[in-house]
Amino acid sequence: MFDHPSYDAHEGVHLFEDEASGLKAIIAIHSTARGPAAGGCRMWNYETGEAMLKDALRLSQGMSYKNAMADIPLGGGKAVIWGDSRKDKSPALFHAFGRAVESLQGRYITAEDVGIDVSDMAIVRQETAHVAGLDHGEAASGDPSPVTAKGVYLGLRETAHRAFGTDDLSGLTVAVQGVGSVGGYVCDHLAEAGANLVITDIDEKALADVAGRTGATIVAPNDIYDVDADIFSPCALGAIVNEKTLDRFRVKAIAGGANNQLIVPEMGELLRRRGILYAPDYVINGGGIINVAAEISGTYSREWVDEKLTRLVATLGEVLDEALSTGTPTNQVADRIARQRIADARTA
Ligand code: NAD
Repeated sequence: MFDHPSYDAHEGVHLFEDEASGLKAIIAIHSTARGPAAGGCRMWNYETGEAMLKDALRLSQGMSYKNAMADIPLGGGKAVIWGDSRKDKSPALFHAFGRAVESLQGRYITAEDVGIDVSDMAIVRQETAHVAGLDHGEAASGDPSPVTAKGVYLGLRETAHRAFGTDDLSGLTVAVQGVGSVGGYVCDHLAEAGANLVITDIDEKALADVAGRTGATIVAPNDIYDVDADIFSPCALGAIVNEKTLDRFRVKAIAGGANNQLIVPEMGELLRRRGILYAPDYVINGGGIINVAAEISGTYSREWVDEKLTRLVATLGEVLDEALSTGTPTNQVADRIARQRIADARTA
């Protein structure tokens, strides 16, 4: 474990197994320096335990960085459950997961991620109070996607300002990959701002819905990388900037909501050399966790969320400016600031 390439000095990596329900879960706690480790729970049918561990470690480190850049009083952690979310869910599984979270006594706070929905978390809540992203209760914040999408839209404007000299998106073409919860709302904002949209998804209904209300042009999933657009906005999968896609991009900027967009950090430098301005994913997509942080604080306040979101967009601008003025990849600048904020909190 200590030699694992993604270990990155995690404070704790906890493995849970519950034979009766079939639960196999990892809860990785990267850092509690800034506050309790917060990050969603993902359910995925991993091919191997190693793949599951790597995902947990990378995601929890990502949450530490995301929470630090959003300047919220939370550390970073993540839970992963091994299984097919379409077949393997049961109340017993989520009760067992809830007991696992409870055993960490508040060092980790869970919420929804890929494969997990609000009704699953409602079961987890019966075993532990260390849950967010609920739709019932005094401070419940509900679905974080609209806030994530608003942050992505404001971040797109911030990025356009640096790449095109204007944050007016009217007349620009944006290629959006994935029009689910986040991507769909992002398209609404972009259409309202007068941008031309080219969209793709593997879900025909989602595509038809979004195209119907925004007038977007639809392309096949594999063709989205070749679209002659100004900005590429990944809002579906991770690792979409890789050796196969790199030479296909015909855009001047990449800015979207998906997590872990670069397959390896070195892709940041390769994008820079191609003159593509990359908005670091965990900075531009931090709106959702800000919304969740408001719930965790115990008193949800829309004003506090808006204030933090405005500050986050300004931070994104500062990252882009520093990267451009020093000829450094944007992801390296963001990583350095995030690590510094975590180290400062640890010292304090
Ligand atoms: P979602 O499941 O609602 O939407 C994802 C969409 O991508 C779906 O419509 C799906 O059909 C589509 N998709 C899957 N594979 C595809 C492919 N090969 N090509 C094109 N489209 C494909 O999920 P979401 O909540 O909108 O999250 C999208 C991304 O944003 C994820 O990477 C997620 O981790 C990240 N994110 C989400 C939030 C949030 O608040 N929901 C916050 C931060 C980051």
